[in-house]
Amino acid sequence: MSIFNKAQQEIAEHLGDEKIVLSKWKDWKWQMSKCIKSVDDFEQLLGIEFEPEYRKKIEQTVDTFPLSITPYYLSLINTDDYANDPVFRQAFPVPEELQVLDHDMADPLAEDQDSPAPGITHRYPDRVLFHISNICSMYCRHCTRKRKVGDQDTVPGREEIEAGLEYIRNNPVVRDVLLSGGDPLMLSDDHLDWILTELDQIEHVQVVRLGTRMPVVLPYRITDDLVAVLKKHHPIWVNTHFNHPREMTTSSKEAVRKLADAGIPLGNQSVLLAGVNDCPRIMKALVHKLVANRVRPYYLYQCDLSEGLNHFRTPVGKGIEIMESLRGHTSGFSVPTYVVDAPGGGGKIPLNPNYLVSLSTNKVVLRNYEGVITTYKEPDSYEQHFCDRKCDACDLQLQLDDAEEYRAIGIEKLLADHDQTISLTPEDNERMERRAL
Ligand SMILES: *Cc1c(COP(=O)(O)O)cnc(C)c1O
Repeated sequence: MSIFNKAQQEIAEHLGDEKIVLSKWKDWKWQMSKCIKSVDDFEQLLGIEFEPEYRKKIEQTVDTFPLSITPYYLSLINTDDYANDPVFRQAFPVPEELQVLDHDMADPLAEDQDSPAPGITHRYPDRVLFHISNICSMYCRHCTRKRKVGDQDTVPGREEIEAGLEYIRNNPVVRDVLLSGGDPLMLSDDHLDWILTELDQIEHVQVVRLGTRMPVVLPYRITDDLVAVLKKHHPIWVNTHFNHPREMTTSSKEAVRKLADAGIPLGNQSVLLAGVNDCPRIMKALVHKLVANRVRPYYLYQCDLSEGLNHFRTPVGKGIEIMESLRGHTSGFSVPTYVVDAPGGGGKIPLNPNYLVSLSTNKVVLRNYEGVITTYKEPDSYEQHFCDRKCDACDLQLQLDDAEEYRAIGIEKLLADHDQTISLTPEDNERMERRAL
């Protein structure tokens, strides 16, 4: 029994016959069946008692945004100082969730508006988000899709998934499919196998990604059987969601080890959360634990403007301060890209400290992480290729068979020689309207 910590043993005692519980602790379906969904159970299992007034407010919050915590994730809470505990803060509701501010939105990323088919969000030119599950084992309090949590607590039916697959089949531009949810690993191995097999058969789909928090909140879901299924459908990439170094437990390490050993490249997407990880030292400890376990920090997200997340938000300056503390100070592959997911559906916008101090026609002035100011001398001569898109006649040896069909979009278009566009103007520009009169 020494593989179980004290908290797990105590929870086991409360959940029923201790011996039986501990023998099933690592069975993910058992964990799912024992998820903590009420304030009562939570109090009982952790030996905590809330003030009656406060308790009432929490219960009101749960009525709007439901509660669910796996026994495993619950066991990570340090009961001695639970109120400040990063696991508690991510898993347990607070009354502040019911405060809706003017700028808060149910769907800030306009995922429902950019949805051409059931479960599909098609935002970027070459890739789609495919929501194949509406459920999760643990409801993160900071969920950006809080509007959906518990709302339609069902797995999309086969027809719905079929419709999404059909959209992907009919759109040859889609070369990357991101399976998300909810948590796609809530689906059975067989159901996942079916979806992945269908995607395999679509020639233009080159990669499939899975976004899942299972390695963090229910690491026992990463079974040998599941890994065997995923492995059949390479190239599969997995992105997970660790937010605090405390979450990288022995069980989580085992889960990511299995995935990495199966040849699955692993990435991590953290959300910057006030009171959880808004600290350069915590973030550095987290990225170091991730890379030591073969998980590459991928994104650090600024907290979205979804309703109910106000108490989690930090100023963007906190994110920049964290980036400043990572770049140069630690391995390049430990540094995630800090992004704001643009409200209104503009997609992810990367933010960095400024490293470009100044420039003239022949020199660039740069600064490094230490504050060293340096110059980079530009080449005296550079032969400009005017790019008229006649790649056959170009010296650069692009094998045209390998090249994607190419259409410049956005700022890229302003930079392109072959495009005559000289400015991008918002649709509601009054100056342009006057010109049209
Ligand atoms: C994040 C996201 C993606 C994937 O973005 P990458 O930068 O390629 O990781 C795709 N579609 C939507 C709608 C997204 O929000």
